[in-house]
Amino acid sequence: MGSQGDVPRGRLAGKNAIITGGAGGIGLETTVLFLREGASVLITDISEPALIKAMNKAKEIVPYMTGQVATMKCDVTKESDVQAIVERVDEWGGVDVMFNNAGIMHADDDDAVSTPEKIWDLTQNINVKGVWFGSKHAVLSLRKHKKSRGSIINTASVVALVGSATPQLAYTASKGAVLAMTRELAMVHAREGFRFNSLCPAPLNTPLLQDWLGDDQEKRHRREVHFPTGRFGEAIEQANAVLFLASDESSFVNGTDFVVDGGMTKAYTTPE
Ligand code: NAD
Repeated sequence: MGSQGDVPRGRLAGKNAIITGGAGGIGLETTVLFLREGASVLITDISEPALIKAMNKAKEIVPYMTGQVATMKCDVTKESDVQAIVERVDEWGGVDVMFNNAGIMHADDDDAVSTPEKIWDLTQNINVKGVWFGSKHAVLSLRKHKKSRGSIINTASVVALVGSATPQLAYTASKGAVLAMTRELAMVHAREGFRFNSLCPAPLNTPLLQDWLGDDQEKRHRREVHFPTGRFGEAIEQANAVLFLASDESSFVNGTDFVVDGGMTKAYTTPE
C-alpha cells in the first residue's frame, strides 16, 4: 500500500492492531498514528457512519503507510462481533495489539440515587464487558498464532483513581473495574509475553465530554480549574501514550495504570 521500500519501517512495523471505538476521538487519532508507524489497523466501531468518516481520514495518509487499513462494525457488548473482528485480523497473521477503547459516559448517569438501572447496565456492558471480550479474543488470537509477545491496552479514566464530585457513578465504577481487570490479566498472562496496561486519560477535548459540557461555562470551569496546565487534554496526547504502550519500546511495562492527565491527579491546588 505504501511506497517505503521493501523493509517495513516505524515503531509498529509489521504489527496488526485492532482498535475498538476506533472512529471516536482517541480511537481515530490512535488509528492515524498506528498507521503512520507501520501497523496494519482494523478500525472498529458501533457507528457505521463514523467508520466511513474514519476511513476517509485514514485514506489521507495512504502515501505514508506500509500496512493495511480496514473498517468493520463491532458492538463490543456482543461477543460474536468481537470474535468476528479478531478473526478478520487472523487473516492478516493474527493480533499483535488490541486497543480496547470503546466506552460511553451516558447523559443520564448520575449519583447513587438517580442513576437509572438500565443506564448502569448499559455502561457496564460496554465499558467493562466489552473490554473483557476484547481481552479474551486477543489472547485467543495471540495463542493461535503462537506469538511470544502481544500488547493489550484498555482505556480506563482518571475517575478510576480520584473521586469525582460531579457524579457519574456507573461510569466511575466501570472504569475502576477496567483497572482491576487489566491488572489481573497482566499477571495471569505475563509469562506468555502478553502485556496488559490501562490508559487513564483526564478529561479531553473529544465529543464524549465536549458534547456533554456544551456551552455551560460553569460546568466547564469546574473541571478546567483542576488542571495545573489550565486546559483539557487532546486526543493525540493519549494516542502518543497508546503508541508507546503498543510498541516493543514498552516491553517491560506491564499492569500499569498509565496516567496521561497533565498532572491533574497529582495536584493539590493549581496556579490561578
Ligand atoms: P468518543 O465518544 O469520541 O469515542 C468513543 C467511540 O466508541 C465512539 O466512536 C462510539 O461510536 C464508540 N462506541 C460506543 N459504544 C460502542 C459499542 N457498544 N461498541 C463499539 N463502539 C462503541 O470518546 P473518546 O473520548 O474517544 O473515548 C474513548 C475512551 O476514552 C472511552 O473508553 C472513554 O470512556 C475514555 N475516556 C475519555 C475521556 C474524555 O474526556 N474524552 C476521559 C477519560 C477516558
